[in-house]
Amino acid sequence: MKVLLTGGAGYIGSHTCLELLVAGHEVVVIDNFSNSNPIVFDRIESICGRRPTVYQDDVCNSDGVSEVLLAHQIQAVIHFAGLKALGESAEQPLRYYNNNVQGSLSLLSAMKTAKVRILAFSSSATVYGSPNIIPINEDAPTSATNPYGRSKIMVEEILRDLTVADDSLHIALLRYFNPVGAHESGLIGEDPTGIPNNLMPLISQVASGRREVLQIYGDDYPTVDGTGIRDYIHVMDLARGHVAALDWLQERKGVHAFNLGTGQGKSVLEVIQSYETTTGQAVPYQIVGRRLGDVAACYADSSLAERELGWKAQLSVDEMCRDEWNWQNNNPNGYRK
Ligand code: NAD
Ligand code: UDP
Repeated sequence: MKVLLTGGAGYIGSHTCLELLVAGHEVVVIDNFSNSNPIVFDRIESICGRRPTVYQDDVCNSDGVSEVLLAHQIQAVIHFAGLKALGESAEQPLRYYNNNVQGSLSLLSAMKTAKVRILAFSSSATVYGSPNIIPINEDAPTSATNPYGRSKIMVEEILRDLTVADDSLHIALLRYFNPVGAHESGLIGEDPTGIPNNLMPLISQVASGRREVLQIYGDDYPTVDGTGIRDYIHVMDLARGHVAALDWLQERKGVHAFNLGTGQGKSVLEVIQSYETTTGQAVPYQIVGRRLGDVAACYADSSLAERELGWKAQLSVDEMCRDEWNWQNNNPNGYRK
C-alpha cells in the first residue's frame, strides 16, 4: 500500500515508518520537524535498507498535503502529527487546538480532495479521563481534563461526523496507552526536547546520571504498592499495531476505536525495579506529592484489537526497559551529535 505518515519523523511515527517499510509498503512522510530530526530517516535506512519519501511541511497547509497525496497516489494516511504535552496544552490552548484540531481538519480536506478514504488517527487513552472501570474498554465514556485530551476527543468526534456524512470512509481511532522503549538496534528512539514529562525517559536520564533522582508522584494511591499504575506498551508493538490496523481497515468502512495497550498494568516502583534489574543501572528515587490530574490506575482491555485486528502486544516491561536503555546509552544526546 502507498501510505502517508503525517508526523512520521516523531517517536511513534518513525518506528511505524520502519515497520511499514519492512512489511513492503511504500511510505511518504510529511513532518514540519517541530519535535523531530530528519536524521531519523538515515537511521531507518541503515536498519532496513529502505527510506520513505520525505516532505518538510505543516499539515495545516492543506493544499501542500493534497498535492503530496495526489502526486504519490496515496491510499491510506496515518495521522501522527500533533503536539502532545498535557501541561503545555493548558498553558497554550490556542497553539494546541490550531495544531491538533485545525491540522486534522486541514488534512481531512486534503484527503477529500485527493479521494483518500483510509485513515488511522493517533488518539490516546487520555480520552477516557478518570476511568471508573479498569481495564478500560472502547465503550467507556470519554472526558478530558486538559486541552490536549480535549483536542483528541474533538478530532474523534469530527471523524465520527464525517463517516455519517460519507459512508465510503474507513477510519480507525487508535487509542495508545503508554508507549515506551525503542527499536532493538538502539538507532531510533524517543528524543524529547527539554525536560521530559513521561516516566520512562525520566528514568533513563536518572539511570545515565543526567539527572540525580527520580521524583515519584505519590505512594498513597489504592494500588499494589501505592504508586500509580499504567499500561506501558513497547513502541515496536505499537508500530505493528498500526500495520495490522491498516490491513484490517482496507475491508472495513465506518469509524472504529481500538485500545492499543498490553492489558497489563505496572506500578512506578515495578517499572523502576525492572529497569534496574535488566540494565544494571541504579535509579535513585524520592517520593513526593501526587501530580495534579493523575489517576491511580489506567490500563487497557485490549481484547477488541486482538479479536479484530489479530494483533497483540508481545514485548515485556523488561524488554521495554532494555531497549529504552540501549537507545539512551548509545545516544545520550538523542539525534543531536
Ligand atoms: P512526537 O512529537 O515524537 O511526533 C510528532 C511528530 O509530528 C513530530 O515529528 C513533529 O515534528 C510532527 N508535527 C507536529 N505538528 C506538526 C504539524 N502541524 N505539521 C507537521 N508535522 C507536525 O510525538 P509521538 O510521541 O510520536 O506522538 C505521535 C502521536 O501520537 C501524537 O498525535 C500524540 O498526541 C499521539 N500520542 C502519543 C502518546 C505518547 O505517549 N507518545 C500517547 C498517546 C497518543
Ligand atoms: N510519574 C512519576 N514521576 C515522574 C513522571 C511520572 O512518578 O517524574 C508517574 C505518574 O504519576 C504516573 C506514571 O508515572 O503514575 C506514568 O506517568 P506518565 O506521565 O509517563 O504517563 P501518564 O500519567 O500520562 O499516563
